[in-house]
Formats: sequence, structure tokens, C-alpha cells
Amino acid sequence: MTRSIETIDQTYVWHPFTQMKQYTETKPLIIERGEGAYLIDVDGNRYLDGYASLWVNVHGHNDSAMNEAIIAQLGRIAHSTLLGAGNVPSSLLAKALVERAPGPLSKVFYSDTGSAAVEIALKMAYQYWKNEDPKRYEQRNLFVSLEGAYHGDTIGSISVGGVETFHGVFEPLLFETIQVPSPHPYAYESEDEAMRVSLEALEHVFQTYGERISAFIIEPLMQAAAGLIRHPDGYLKAVESLCRMYDILLIADEVAVGFGRTGTLFAVEREGVEPDLLCLGKGLTGGYVPLAVTMATDRIYDAFLGTGYDDRTFLHGHTYTGNQVTCTAALKNIELFDERNVLGHVRKTIERIQPSLRRLEALDVVGDVRAQGLMIGVELTSDRATKRVAPTVWAERVVEAMKERGIIIRNIGPVLTIVPVLMMAHDDVERILTTLYDVLRERTFE
Ligand SMILES: *Cc1c(COP(=O)(O)O)cnc(C)c1O
Repeated sequence: MTRSIETIDQTYVWHPFTQMKQYTETKPLIIERGEGAYLIDVDGNRYLDGYASLWVNVHGHNDSAMNEAIIAQLGRIAHSTLLGAGNVPSSLLAKALVERAPGPLSKVFYSDTGSAAVEIALKMAYQYWKNEDPKRYEQRNLFVSLEGAYHGDTIGSISVGGVETFHGVFEPLLFETIQVPSPHPYAYESEDEAMRVSLEALEHVFQTYGERISAFIIEPLMQAAAGLIRHPDGYLKAVESLCRMYDILLIADEVAVGFGRTGTLFAVEREGVEPDLLCLGKGLTGGYVPLAVTMATDRIYDAFLGTGYDDRTFLHGHTYTGNQVTCTAALKNIELFDERNVLGHVRKTIERIQPSLRRLEALDVVGDVRAQGLMIGVELTSDRATKRVAPTVWAERVVEAMKERGIIIRNIGPVLTIVPVLMMAHDDVERILTTLYDVLRERTFE
């Protein structure tokens, strides 16, 4: 049974972001069950989920309260369309999100993946200006983003992306965008310098292109897939000021950093920033089912109001938009955030792990440790003095060694990424960090 499922997987499934030749030549990990912060494979091996099943899981796997809410909804209805009709969970969830969202975000547009949520935000921003003044803003089709940005995998979202290894091959298909340097302290002499260079470049772009720019899109506080790049405190607030000064829309892509990951429900709250559009995905349903949203302010929404089905209408929608099962999961997730004080737990965990992070930082092979809430990046170096980037294979071997010790983390190039289940017990998070410390100190990966 076990062997056959591995073979079936390797024979029929095409895995994402995976070189399949390599994948089919090695024994695959096939997860069969989950229990709290643990994943259990078909052979019965237990692994601590140190990547929250790709940054999504909040309460742990197979949580009975989450399960019961979803099952109860199935007993009513699984799906009906939002085209020309509403439904109960999508109405209640929209209200719950608006009540908790920062600033004047007042409307919720549903989709099912973070990429779609970003795609929708880009289209909304572009059409917003067109609706405002079709003549004046005929050419307002430029988007600005950060170098190394990751906003998803559709053609629109990779157009504003900047991860070369993900996007390079599709370059000829992408629309024109402008990228400014990321405020990545490790790449500069200091945080101040990183921030100054990035903000000066951004202002220069705003000055140069002004009314040709639809929006600036950013992953607030931390660029996730870029290798967990932590922005200096105050950077986001300064970005918001520039956007307001030049009247350029601000899109916050909180697909990774939203929903508690950084210690607040929304990452922009940390700097009192109020974006025009905000994207959520990943942890929105507690990591149970796929759902994403794009939130908009009245200013954006009102520009789409017209008479009849005209060209002011936002002509976009997916088949499963507002699906009842996924909205129910998100509603339950929000309820449990309060009931279980998830944010309090996350903040306490962040505080507790500081000594362990400092200990990692002291290792020779570690060039940089950067954490934003429970997103931790450990960048390996083969020469600390010159910050020489370690071979990616080192990080891959560390990930493998961790797996042998019953812990799953991942790497992005030379950066080890630790993104635990949000409600993971403090001791389990500590175990990930001490095990990592041991593996790095033993240096068997070279
Ligand atoms: C994961 C991610 C996305 C894309 O979400 P999908 O659900 O994978 O399409 C977009 N933006 C950010 C910041 C992400 O981390």
C-alpha cells in the first residue's frame, strides 16, 4: 500500500516548483495525516511542521473545532455562486474582515489563491484610474514593486515580481513594471543606508513617472519568498507617505505576513499604515482550505459604481468565488483567534525564542538571522567577513538533516526558513531552533 502510493504519486503527479526528474529518482515524502503541529507520513513517521505547510497553518492540523465548523457547513451546502446571489458565510466573513481591517478598507472581493488576490488588486488599481478620468489617465498603466518581490505565479503577479529564478523564463510575456531596490539591511552597511537607498529610488520613480503609475505594491514588513528579507522599522510608513504625496495607490500584499504571522492580525497595523488595497490568503482559513481576498477602500469601490452593466463595472470573477466551505473555515479561524488568544501566543513565542536566535547568529556559518514575528530566515555564508553566499546545496543538506531528526523546514537558496505553525507550543519551536543549531554547529553539510 505504502510503496504503491509513492509510485502512484511519482507516476501521475506533477509537483509545483519541482524538478520532476530529480523528484522521481528519490523516495518521496507522502503525508497521510496531521495531528496538531505534526505531520505524519504513510510510513507512520512524525514530523514537526516547521514550515506551517507552506506558511498557512495556524491552529495545528486536524483541529476538532475547525473540522466541526467545516462539517456543519457541508450539512447545509458546499457551494453556490456569488454571481447574481449571495450566501451566508461569505457575507459574515466580509463583515468580520472589514471590522478588523485597518483604516478605511471596507469591501471584500473573494478569490481562491494569493496570486488571484494580487491579480485582482492590480486590475482594480488600473481600472480605478480609468474610471476616475478615462482621458487623463489613459496611460496610467505602470506598476512599481520591490526587487526580489514575490506576489504569486500568474502572469500579472509575476510581472510585479522580482525573483529571478522563478520568473526569468517568462520575461517576454510580462507587462512593463518598475522595480526599486529592496531595503535589505544585510546587503548594505546599515539599516539606515538600506532604507535611504530604497526610499530615494522610490521617490525618484514617483517623480519621474508620476501619473503613469497605477500603484506601488509591497509585501509589508518582510519580503517572504525573496528569502525572508526584513525591512527596517519605519520603512513601510515612509512608503505610505510617499504614496500619499504623489497620489499613487498603495497595495499591501499580506498573503504571507497577514493573519497573525508577524504578531498582529494585519502586518500594516504595526506601523499604522492604511493601504488602498490589501490582499490576504495563506493563513486566512487557518491553513485548511484555499481562500483569498482583496480588500478595498470606499474610494476605490465608489469609482466602480455606475448605471447598469457598463464599463465601470469590475469584470472579474472566479467560478468558486465566495465558496461557503472556505468562508466558513475562515470565519471559524477568526473566532478561534480570539478564543485561543493566538496573537498573544505568537507574541510570547517571539519573545521566548530571542536567545535561541542570538545563539544561531553567533555561528560562523551564519551570515544573517532575520525574524519578523514567526517568520525566521537564517542565511548561510561560506565566509562571514565578506558575506560570501553559501552554496545552496549546504542549505538543502541542512533541510535534509533536519528531516532525519523529525523536523520539516525549507530553504530558499542559501536561506533556511523557519515558519512554524502559529499555535505551535513554545517548546516545539525551541526544539526546531536547538536542532538547527546542532546541525549547523556539526557542519556535516559541507
Ligand atoms: C504565497 C504568496 C502569494 C501567492 O499565493 P498563492 O496562494 O500561492 O497563489 C502572493 N503573495 C505573497 C506575498 C505570497 O507569499
